[in-house]
Amino acid sequence: DLHPVRRALLSVSDKTGLIELGQALTARGVELLSTGGTAKALREAGLEVKDVSDVTGFPEMMDGRVKTLHPMVHGGLLALRDNDAHVAAMNEHGIGAIDLLVVNLYPFEAALARGAGYDEMIENIDIGGPAMIRAASKNHLFVNVVTDVEDYDALLTELDANDGQTSYAFRQRLSQIAYARTAAYDAAVSTWMAGAIGEETPRRRAFAGEVKQTLRYGENSHQKAAFYTDGSNRPGVATAVQLQGKELSYNNINDTDAAYELVAEFDPAESAAVAIIKHANPCGVAKGASLVEAYQKAFDCDRTSAFGGIVALNQPLDAATAAKIVEIFTEVVIAPGASDEAKEIFAAKKNLRLLLTDALPDPRAPITAYKQVAGGVLVQDKDVGYVGLDDLKVVTKKAPTDEQLQDLLFAWKVAKHVKSNAIVYVKDNATVGVGAGQMSRLDSANVAAAKAGRMAAELGLDESLAKGSAVASDAFFPFADGLLEAAAAGGTCVIQPGGSMRDDEVIAAADEAGLAMVFTGMRHFRH
Ligand code: 5GP
Repeated sequence: DLHPVRRALLSVSDKTGLIELGQALTARGVELLSTGGTAKALREAGLEVKDVSDVTGFPEMMDGRVKTLHPMVHGGLLALRDNDAHVAAMNEHGIGAIDLLVVNLYPFEAALARGAGYDEMIENIDIGGPAMIRAASKNHLFVNVVTDVEDYDALLTELDANDGQTSYAFRQRLSQIAYARTAAYDAAVSTWMAGAIGEETPRRRAFAGEVKQTLRYGENSHQKAAFYTDGSNRPGVATAVQLQGKELSYNNINDTDAAYELVAEFDPAESAAVAIIKHANPCGVAKGASLVEAYQKAFDCDRTSAFGGIVALNQPLDAATAAKIVEIFTEVVIAPGASDEAKEIFAAKKNLRLLLTDALPDPRAPITAYKQVAGGVLVQDKDVGYVGLDDLKVVTKKAPTDEQLQDLLFAWKVAKHVKSNAIVYVKDNATVGVGAGQMSRLDSANVAAAKAGRMAAELGLDESLAKGSAVASDAFFPFADGLLEAAAAGGTCVIQPGGSMRDDEVIAAADEAGLAMVFTGMRHFRH
């Protein structure tokens, strides 16, 4: 199944590594064909190259829309070398076999990223490139197709290992990558078009994935896994840089993302904020006058759960906070930067993973979210809902004080990032009890209260941490019981969406318990 490479067609928009590749192929006796710009670059480097327009007998025309779309090219890519009729057709029409195709496409994604207008986007849709890639890929029995600059070295290594030939398995791998490339390319075009024509839920949708990291395993050790970026290069964990520590696992990435998204809710210019996450739920979130204070407050919400947690900071890691964090076992720390001193402190902890981002993600950036279900994928806008002071409606006789309003809004932001049913108790800009993922709101209120009580005992306090707290509920209380549980735990004010059939009952119960309550008119289910 080894097949020699004698003739190559090179047509690339991204000319990175082109000259080196051209030289390496020439040195191995491979004849080069090229389109206009690629041929020019190769020639300027002193290489011998034949113009595709000489092979086709047609000039490149229509602003480059038609360059390689010709039987002299596509016959050379598609002909089966071991098929008599195909060989006869090649001979009859003077078609030369093409054994290697090197193409990277018009930079559609780059044009998208710089916000090019409609007409410019259209001109950036490559036609001949994908046509050649698909032809060469189909004929991988004989033809090599390289669509990624990163694969140039692998090609040369393969040629050298096999005396100027490549193996079938190698060509199959190239083919698989090539089809993913053309699929991703068309997915990008289709997704762009959906937006450009205002089609929010298009009848058909295409997806793309680019492997960023193969993971040792998935959520559990018997599951294979990898981390793919969606190819759009949007800011997020996908572009975080790991400074030190063990390789990230599937669960690390999942939890780090949750931590990072949560802490992004808090403006770093306003105050320091820290989120500690376990199993994608916060076990402590706090704002503070300094980062180290915020960390201490977050840690004091649930010290037991914080062990082995993921810590996200909204400001660059400083030495004081670093020193505090390394006092217990922590899996990952993610921050928008770190001081040299902080890095030094972490360096002593070889396993601790430190991830740096350029900045926090914008929690209000409108991204599309996907969730797999049997037989398909659910697609929705990411929950970028935001509630400010002006959106709150006081529904009880008692109105919250300014401090209570602060804590209510803080609790609300945290509740958005807690799995439903979510109940969050907050005091002085720090969570003091988080009830996550229970099947009833009453149970979540109970769990949060129990944690607040246990932690108070651990800290040697004689009343629950929840005493005098602000309470957030991610969705409305369907009955008064959950609300009364929160009041019994020490809650003095409540933030919730409202909108239940029994709102009147719930408001009456709040009044009777002497609570202040505000409605947001928006809920934050998170499953
Ligand atoms: P060059 O810089 O060599 O002039 O152009 C290289 C680019 O042209 C590559 O990105 C390749 O995919 C693209 N290309 C090659 N043939 C055709 C064609 O027939 N039509 C269009 N639209 N693009 C082509």
